[in-house]
Parts: sequence; structure tokens; C-alpha cells
Amino acid sequence: MRAIALVDLDDTLFQTLRKCPPDVPHQRLTALGFAKDGSPLSYATPRQMRFIQWLAETTHLVPVTARSLDALRRARIPFRAAVCAHGGVVLDEAGEVDARWEGMIAARAASHAGELAGLAEAITVVAQTRGVAINARVLLEGDMPLYTLAKHADADDATLFAVVDAAVPALPPGWTDHRNGNNVALMPPYLGKRHAVAHILPGLRARFPDAPVIGIGDSLTDAPFMGLCDFAMMPTRSQLAGGLFDGA
Ligand SMILES: [Mg+2]
Repeated sequence: MRAIALVDLDDTLFQTLRKCPPDVPHQRLTALGFAKDGSPLSYATPRQMRFIQWLAETTHLVPVTARSLDALRRARIPFRAAVCAHGGVVLDEAGEVDARWEGMIAARAASHAGELAGLAEAITVVAQTRGVAINARVLLEGDMPLYTLAKHADADDATLFAVVDAAVPALPPGWTDHRNGNNVALMPPYLGKRHAVAHILPGLRARFPDAPVIGIGDSLTDAPFMGLCDFAMMPTRSQLAGGLFDGA
């Protein structure tokens, strides 16, 4: 064991066609994320493919993703353990759902169901008033409500953010407002990649005491879980990098 890599997926290892670098020809992209009907949704560049291969060969690779368990399983990434649904679901080293974590999240989720639905409703009302096509709903894992997700179908990101700002002027204390590209996720306090990584990290440290842990991600909301790792890595063109490398 050389290292443990806790790795965000979307916009780190692959992305939608729209976000792929324009200088990479379409035929050189590899589809890695798929819709329920099997059609490709997300693609890796040749360099991202080599990066994934390098991680797979030299690290204990654990995806840490906002994807639902179902969507994670529709991504062609080698893994057994994983954190998915923004930390709402943990897969153990056998690839099975961590029942203890699930029980804890379910208990907390139940008491936030009404609040999550209220946020989705408020966003829908403002979107309709403004005549903007926005889909706002409570994201479920099984029948467990996890967070409120708002996406625009054909509006731009700024319009989506303006609608959410008008509908939800302030989140309750401890909540997280995750925005990146065309989606906004409003997450209650118990949800977040950092909580789930804090749950799995002691076990990984015990199994591989001297292995350095590398956190890899692209979003501002990846930073908290990356902060639990020994090293952090990000795409140089990413929300998390901000303009840090623009002059390079
Ligand atoms: Mg990401």
C-alpha cells in the first residue's frame, strides 16, 4: 500500500461533454459515466484516463462523490469502498452499504424531511413566478430524504442562483449551500463528505498506518473532507483552485 486516495469524481476525474476541454477531439474522450438507459453522460480526457489508471495502480482508491449510490454504480471507476450521496451513504471495504452509518443518517434525515421539502417548494414557487425552468426536489437515497437539489434545464447558472437566493435568503445554521455549475444542493448539518470521511478514515488509518492520505476534489465543498487528509490535490482549472493558477 503506497497511498490512500479519497477522490471526488465529477469534474475531477471526468465531466460532461459541455465541460470537456475544447482542444480534445471528441473521439479521444472515453465515456465513464452513464445514464439509467445506458447512454453516456460523462467523459474523461486521455490525461484523466491515465490519472485514473495511475491512482488505481498505486493507491487504495475510495470515491468520495455527490453521486447517489445508483449513479456511482453507473460510473466506470474501480472501487470497493466509497462515500456517495454527499456523504449520505458509505460503502464498506466489501462494497456493502455501511448499515451503522445508514442508520445514523436515516434517523437524522427523518427529522429534516419537512424542512427539505419546504425549501424545494419555495424554489419552485419563485421559479414559476419568474417563468424559469428549474427543477427543485428532495433527493432521496432509497426512501431516505437527504438534501434539496435545484437544477436548471436550459437557463444559465446565474439565473438559477438568483432564483435560489430569492427563495432561500438564508439557510438555517450549520446547513451547506453547494453550488457548482448547473446545480445547487442545500444540505442539512449532518450531511457532507467531511462527516462520512471522518467516519471511514480511522479504519483506513488502522489498516494502512503509514500510508499518506491524499484528498482530491474540484469544488469548494470538497475542501472540508480534503482537510482531513495529509495532502490535497485539485484540478488547476476548478472552482476550488479559483484563480490561483491563472497567471501560471
Ligand atoms: Mg466534483
